[in-house]
Amino acid sequence: MARIQSSKIDETYMTKEQAETGNLQTLLSEVGSGLDQFLKFEHPDALHPNSTWRETLDIALPEKGVGIDTVTQELLSEVIPNGSPVANPGFTAFITTGAVSASSIASTAAGIASPHRYLGTAFNFLEELSLNWLAEMLGIKNLRGVYSSGGSVANLVALGGARQFAFEKVGHDVAANGVDRPVSIYASAECHHTIQRSAGVLGIGRRAVKAVACDSEGRMQVEALRGLIEEDKKNGALALAIVANAGSTNTGAIDPLLKIGEIAREHEIWYHVDGAYGLPGILDDRISHLYEGLELADSVIVDPHKWLGAAGGIGATFVRDRNLLERAFTQEAADYLEGSVDLPKDTAAVIEHSLDDFGIPYFNYGVELTAPCRGVVVWAMIREIGVEGMRERIKSHNDIARYIFDFASAHANLEVFSEPRLSICCFRYTAAGISDLNHFNQVLYRRLVRENKYMPSTTRIDGQLVLRPCYIGARQEQTQADGLLDAVLRIGETLRKRCPTH
Ligand SMILES: *Cc1c(COP(=O)(O)O)cnc(C)c1O
Repeated sequence: MARIQSSKIDETYMTKEQAETGNLQTLLSEVGSGLDQFLKFEHPDALHPNSTWRETLDIALPEKGVGIDTVTQELLSEVIPNGSPVANPGFTAFITTGAVSASSIASTAAGIASPHRYLGTAFNFLEELSLNWLAEMLGIKNLRGVYSSGGSVANLVALGGARQFAFEKVGHDVAANGVDRPVSIYASAECHHTIQRSAGVLGIGRRAVKAVACDSEGRMQVEALRGLIEEDKKNGALALAIVANAGSTNTGAIDPLLKIGEIAREHEIWYHVDGAYGLPGILDDRISHLYEGLELADSVIVDPHKWLGAAGGIGATFVRDRNLLERAFTQEAADYLEGSVDLPKDTAAVIEHSLDDFGIPYFNYGVELTAPCRGVVVWAMIREIGVEGMRERIKSHNDIARYIFDFASAHANLEVFSEPRLSICCFRYTAAGISDLNHFNQVLYRRLVRENKYMPSTTRIDGQLVLRPCYIGARQEQTQADGLLDAVLRIGETLRKRCPTH
């Protein structure tokens, strides 16, 4: 502090110094109170034209800084209140949700105390511990994991493993030399499109993904799968992977995992299960039998930033043997990296300090080198409420979907589609005399979203436009379902009166 001797204090310097040395308590507490306020959802964001805050924020590149206090104030007045409706308990459109507090505090802590995941720190340790907890909790204890930014990358990493496996069997180092022959991936027609994108990125080509037909509930038809595999055997394409859903994004359908796994075993094809959304459903003992066969999977993914309640940015891939991932994704040695932990030969056995060791080399098991510590977030979320708390939360969400199903099944002006397996329930408004139900429900949907209280998405089931609420948020309760149903019935009624024949 010797520098501050003159009576005239350099303001910019002071604010900078405050920020860099010990002012976090005040800053985080100020931001925290703004966030608590945000979580009351009293701000009319969707009714609030973007132009009001854009004008304030849309400024030219600043030559001079304003200091941390002004930044904090702008965060509080312009940015946080105009944040995303995703955290609102009435928001059920995407399979992402408001982060639980354990996620928020843990990721803040990680951002400061371990800004990346390598080196043998406590954070690196929790990376592995939490992956193992996840695996045990979700019925895949036989697998080892690696975190990435979300389901998109988690699928890419899993299919990178599949690609390595299939090509090693025919004696070709695909990671070094590239894809040299036609291959096929057999994926449920309901699979997430990140499967096709992964195939594109991995040099396999999007067209290599063959869609396996599904039944009326969105589950893969195993006979159709058999047919496609046999056909390819005749054509000589290399079978790379079978991809099944443990909870489809559209409706939460769970494929017949055991039957598909047996086919994969029979043909020695890599078996990938995409549980980005639905894997935690295994915690609900009323439906856990639907996950039978998961133990046959060669790779499984789950997104802690979906049903488990983390903020966006955490997916996990699990495989039997991470060495396979290392062969698929290795970053060749780099002197500056290795040099940072190289111990002299005579002390090499002594690992005492975080700088003596990289810890587990996650950077070789995927596509990221510098990456945030995500394990501490998963650790915090599980540590807070335990498996028991997670189980209760998952069951309560499944209950909400069933509640909508029961209510809508019994109501003359509502129509349901298949019975929910997980926490999604698709339904729509209906009444005699509405000639175009798709158009009617589309108009109803826009009205609903503009009211800014209950915000499901829509999807199509057999060409029919339906409302699709998905409940995964820790702050969601049955009252949200009641509110949504009331709003749909009220808006439907109004629209019918306004234009009775449609
Ligand atoms: C959400 C989802 C993905 C993609 O995950 P992101 O985290 O959004 O990248 C992949 N598969 C399924 C089944 C999903 O629901």
